[in-house]
Amino acid sequence: MRVCVPRETGPGEHRVALTPETVSKLAASGFELAVERGAGVLAGFPDELYGEAGAELGDFPAVLRGADGVVRVGAPGADEVATYHAGLVVVGFLQPLTDNEGIARLRERGVVAFAMESIPRITRAQSMDALSSQATVAGYKAVLLAADRSPKLFPMMMTAAGTIAPARVLVLGAGVAGLQAIATARRLGAVVSAFDVRPAVAEQVESLGAAFLDLGVRGEETEGGYARELTQEQQEAQQAALEERIPDFDVVVTTAAVPGRPAPRLIPAAAVESMRPGSVIVDLAAETGGNCELTSPGHEITHTGVAIVGFTNVPSLMPADASRLYSRNVAALLQHLAPSGELALDFEDEITAGACVAGAPPEEAAA
Ligand code: NAD
Repeated sequence: MRVCVPRETGPGEHRVALTPETVSKLAASGFELAVERGAGVLAGFPDELYGEAGAELGDFPAVLRGADGVVRVGAPGADEVATYHAGLVVVGFLQPLTDNEGIARLRERGVVAFAMESIPRITRAQSMDALSSQATVAGYKAVLLAADRSPKLFPMMMTAAGTIAPARVLVLGAGVAGLQAIATARRLGAVVSAFDVRPAVAEQVESLGAAFLDLGVRGEETEGGYARELTQEQQEAQQAALEERIPDFDVVVTTAAVPGRPAPRLIPAAAVESMRPGSVIVDLAAETGGNCELTSPGHEITHTGVAIVGFTNVPSLMPADASRLYSRNVAALLQHLAPSGELALDFEDEITAGACVAGAPPEEAAA
């Protein structure tokens, strides 16, 4: 299988789909790799490293010529899709639940598209779980962004000039990103509380040394382990409970999400206004609208002295390691789709069928 790695085109995207490390591993297991010049530069991987790892380097679309697959981080734009040939395998975060137009474009082009988001979260596919690998990076970085904005020290400090109390951090949503945020804030010495609508999470939160905040709201869990959207009544109860508790915290990191749905609104404007000036909110759900009513996706704002960081694509702010992890996820998927470098798509397989969002044979896709 010949695999092409284009330079990413999304705004602010600094990651790359394959690093020299995985290029070299894939080359050793029978793949041919063609990398667009400059593809890894923003993640800290210059062209020479790809050359040494065994990749052919060139300009796009020359590197696409003769390729059986294209691997990317973000979804390709319309211009790039227009250069694809029928039967080409396309892999990336293709946003199958939200970008209907993009998926339709891939389908019309006759490519076979695999969305990293759609890989079933089963044990066998853990090495391909890019949602988790990137959420881990985002959870870590969110706390660093908060610590940087906060006028307070995170750890307790006992000095000759007296004692400084530790920062109090609240993490809302304790999935993969939230748990990493808890662990990172704890490492920095903060006193951490966390909340999630899935009651099963309480134990994980406590095992990381954080307190589970009881907001009196309990949601349901789907078979896949995700939260179901709360009813209007539950949402209002959650917002009211938070409004009461939030002034106790110096930093709030929000990560609450329901796949394919807009981010649940957890923090109303009134709750922000009840926080002390100098408090910080980092809203990791900004990409899907934000957990905070005042979040401005892609921006950082201040409201009544409270900083609200709404950056989208936070993993791209740590492009080297985010790419290293993502690249291993992509390589694991490639090795699954093309054992020993020979493309052999088996749509009876749960991972292949589950991840395929365009171009699957209709009867297997429905199964
Ligand atoms: P996610 O990004 O979809 O959501 C983040 C968190 O937000 C979830 O924990 C969710 O319960 C929470 N949430 C939703 N609505 C909320 C609300 N109104 N208030 C507070 N919190 C709210 O989820 P994720 O981090 O990708 O993963 C969620 C689940 O999937 C976890 O149970 C995780 O352990 C599981 N998972 C399993 C595997 C595997 O088995 N291979 C891999 C990764 C994750």
